[in-house]
Amino acid sequence: MADLVLVVNAGSSSLKYSLVDAGPGTALASGLVERIGEGPGTLTHHGPDGDHRTEGTYDDHGAALCAALEAFEAHGPALSSVTLRAVGHRVVHGGAEFSAPALVDAALVAAVESLVPLAPLHNPANLAGMATAQRLFPDVPQVAVFDTAFHQTLAPHAYTYALPHAWVQEHRIRRYGFHGTSYSFVAGAAADLLGRPLPELNLVVLHLGNGASAAAIRAGESVDTSMGMTPLEGLVMGTRSGDVDPALHAHLHRELGWSVEQVDGLLNRESGLKGLAGVNDFRELDRRRTDGDPAARLAFEVYCHRIRKYVGAYYAVLGIVDAVVFTAGVGENAASVRAASLAGLERLGIAVDPARNAGGSGPRVISPDGSDVAVLVVPTDEEWEIARQAVEVVSAAGAARE
Ligand code: AMP
Repeated sequence: MADLVLVVNAGSSSLKYSLVDAGPGTALASGLVERIGEGPGTLTHHGPDGDHRTEGTYDDHGAALCAALEAFEAHGPALSSVTLRAVGHRVVHGGAEFSAPALVDAALVAAVESLVPLAPLHNPANLAGMATAQRLFPDVPQVAVFDTAFHQTLAPHAYTYALPHAWVQEHRIRRYGFHGTSYSFVAGAAADLLGRPLPELNLVVLHLGNGASAAAIRAGESVDTSMGMTPLEGLVMGTRSGDVDPALHAHLHRELGWSVEQVDGLLNRESGLKGLAGVNDFRELDRRRTDGDPAARLAFEVYCHRIRKYVGAYYAVLGIVDAVVFTAGVGENAASVRAASLAGLERLGIAVDPARNAGGSGPRVISPDGSDVAVLVVPTDEEWEIARQAVEVVSAAGAARE
């Protein structure tokens, strides 16, 4: 029997869902509800018979998930006629409490609630998704899969900020890292592509999507990552600045009278590619750059320079690197970024073959044959990883009961 998992990814004003067969990773249907709690919204359902777009008002995540279930009934596959093995929830912040996925119960909900101060936009949405799914599927096990869990292997010297120690511990201020589900999937897929066991490999993985981060992974375990206490630190992103001088906050306050909320909004929503060139979608940015727009060119150069710095830093952290791996929307598709961010690193054994870089699809090698460091493109599949991890948790819980 297929291991069908309903994967729920509840964002602050959106809800993504996917019905995944966890064995082969096939998505039988997926969809997105947008503008939850913001007046008129939309639901887009990709079912077996094509795409369906509905307009509606979705007051909260409960209403959004109910609408998604109606879409399953109308356009397939009807969830009322399949057996779900689990509902898998993406939960953004698991703090130091969760180093692995876990069954949703009262204690887990309380722990995720206690972490709301660390992820004020995401964790409440994730909690709403879990509460709704529990109500709609009371007999199906619910599993929380945390974005932060993969990075719980970071050593204290990698996750500790140089701030007053006792105070930092009291307030749980440290580097947590995100995109863990993607790193877990991509590290395994990179090992498959190289035909080598993951425990033998040192990888630098670059997850370049709307949000972007880098990770140094040794033997399948994260040893460093560019996002920190929140998903703002590190690489340049669609609308997020990534690294800035922390004194910027005080400067803006002193010189311009800005509030903390204004600075937070600036760095999270008005910066990155959008701040530099007025556009956060990478495809549009690259189009403008090739059309000669100087702002787009500078944005591209800042973006790639930041990636290059992290590749160098993580090379030093790992000592030996077997592969540099590109993933997510930009990493998988933008040959220009892959070429520019790794240019001139031949002395480190890193090179990109122009013809390989320009073409191809799926998991692939884009470095020349015989390179010391393989350069790979590996499409990520967070939904499949969540489904897989959810089935593992449910199976382990079942085995423990027997
Ligand atoms: P993700 O968050 O992984 O969905 O990635 C979204 C980002 O990937 C957006 O900035 C898109 O513009 C970018 N992206 C998607 N497809 C392409 C493509 N074919 N070429 C360049 N960038 C792309």
